[in-house]
Amino acid sequence: MMDILERTERGLRAAADADEVFSIGESECGNPVLCVHKGRRDGAQIVVTAAIHARECYTALVVIGQASAFAGRGGGAYFIPLVNPDGALFFERGETFGREFLKRNRDMRRVWKANADGVDLNTNFDANWGSGAQNVRIAGASDYIGGCPLCAKESAALAEFTEKVKPQATVSYHCMGGELYWEFFQNAEARCRDERIAEAVAARIGVKKIDGDLHSAGGYKDFCIQKLGIPALTIELIRSGSHPFPPEAFAADGAKNRDLPQYLIELLNSET
Ligand SMILES: [Zn+2]
Repeated sequence: MMDILERTERGLRAAADADEVFSIGESECGNPVLCVHKGRRDGAQIVVTAAIHARECYTALVVIGQASAFAGRGGGAYFIPLVNPDGALFFERGETFGREFLKRNRDMRRVWKANADGVDLNTNFDANWGSGAQNVRIAGASDYIGGCPLCAKESAALAEFTEKVKPQATVSYHCMGGELYWEFFQNAEARCRDERIAEAVAARIGVKKIDGDLHSAGGYKDFCIQKLGIPALTIELIRSGSHPFPPEAFAADGAKNRDLPQYLIELLNSET
């Protein structure tokens, strides 16, 4: 059986010409953080990510499906399905990469969210870093913010890549909750724009728009909103249940979200 990293690589290669699949950087254990660009190079550009949390790694399948279906009218999209490959492989097959830290924590692997160093990548970005209500200061399965913002290779690579390609919006897939988060201390003008987009997207894919920052901090979405000034959405797939979720659990959401990148690009073009 193929592991999630192999599935991601094959899925992206099937979705695009082989030479268009590239790596935005390496994980702590030397795995590639794979990306493909599809669509036009002009017009609105977006970044779509998934699986920054290890135990949510099959959200990658939703993004791979989007990449293969993407029409690319009016803009283009960067698809990065598996932001945390080491964590995903630890979750999926107990891969420890020879690290004592992961060996010690093997019994936690099915609830693991962090990377191979026990840093929760979605708390490691430079956006009110360390002020989140759930933040912890010790490495482990989840919520550890790391020693400083962007100390983890994976979050650093994603931040640097996003700053380089300057997208007009980003979407990040997580699970679970059937919810969409969009707010992070925007100014009044940005808030208006971002709420319009959030509302339209939530209605389109059948999730609940949640207002407020909910005392989160250091997330990729937070970074995109605060540092890049763009709308950034976190989408929590799967309404209810309990971790770990198998790949099949994402099939229905995959269908509902399949054309979301194209829809979002059309929304962005209608905003400007
Ligand atoms: Zn998550």
